[in-house]
Amino acid sequence: GARIVEPQFSAEDTDVEFSLRPRKLNEYIGQEKVKENLQVYIQAAKKRNESLDHVLLYGPPGLGKTTLAGIIANEMGVNFKVTSGPAIEKPGELAALLTGLQAGDVLFVDEIHRLSRQVEEILYPALEDCVLDIMIGKGPSAQSIRVDLNRFTLIGATTRAGQLTGPLRDRFGVIMRLEMYTPDELCDIVMRSSVILSIPCDRSGAMEIAKRSRGTPRIANRLLKRVRDFAEVMGNGKITKEMADIALNRLEIDKLGLDSLDKRFLTMIINGYNGGPVGLETLASALGEESVTLEDVCEPYLMQLGFISRTPRGRCATELAYKHLGLVRDGQQRL
Ligand code: ADP
Repeated sequence: GARIVEPQFSAEDTDVEFSLRPRKLNEYIGQEKVKENLQVYIQAAKKRNESLDHVLLYGPPGLGKTTLAGIIANEMGVNFKVTSGPAIEKPGELAALLTGLQAGDVLFVDEIHRLSRQVEEILYPALEDCVLDIMIGKGPSAQSIRVDLNRFTLIGATTRAGQLTGPLRDRFGVIMRLEMYTPDELCDIVMRSSVILSIPCDRSGAMEIAKRSRGTPRIANRLLKRVRDFAEVMGNGKITKEMADIALNRLEIDKLGLDSLDKRFLTMIINGYNGGPVGLETLASALGEESVTLEDVCEPYLMQLGFISRTPRGRCATELAYKHLGLVRDGQQRL
């Protein structure tokens, strides 16, 4: 089955994700530096009566990129149109989206690194000069016509900024990286969500969920819902630290939020390759997983915890990883 701690959006998130999404910058918890800067850019653009510069948001899935883009549109008082790189197959589809935008609107393109080259090329003049160059006809009679667009703001989101082509990246005036959230911030997010969803939850319960949510709000909200089920069936409905602990242990999510895939990943490096270095592709085939899953889903959090390091020769497990798994490195004495 699917992993509970998967940071990507899944069907079970749909019902709550809409109601839990903050609408204003001051409801958006954490990411203080990003918020402070955005506040300035938004105010300045509004003062000059201009549209906001194009913004690129990058960082692991589930950290709040879509949410933040929606907030920007809301704070600017403009429409918010959502699409994604893989959803735009032909240049004509992008042209239709762009010509449909009103002055100042925000166009949000998730997974922007997955735009095709052809589509991307339509985007350049649109971003730079607010025009579209469209080819009409084929062969020798083909003609290029220029269409003026309303000023708009593109907000692109990607898990890794390095995957963007240089020319596309250069057209963003603002590039911001979202960081993983601290347990305290996630605790605030869980408390906020529990109020919205009318789930009785005390702070110690919220903190237990927060600590096991891999720095990711989407996972925190998902775990909150799962723990609620246990609290209703096995307890009196209230989420306390004890209740959260019982539920999360049952879900096989450990004290730090690692699940069986993370543990297999670390154990493979340690037992299969003597702690590393070992290449990502080798690990992926040894585990029977896609290398992108390992890279986008397991590694960001394991790196954040300091459990793995990435060297030019491959991945290594750190002392902390051995310790967490209760293993001892070869040639060392157990103290
Ligand atoms: P991404 O686009 O980066 O994958 P989303 O914006 O879809 O992530 O966020 C996933 C969910 O997490 C949202 O529905 C929202 O409920 C919650 N969330 C994300 N960031 C925050 C935040 N800073 N404060 C409160 N809730 C947040």
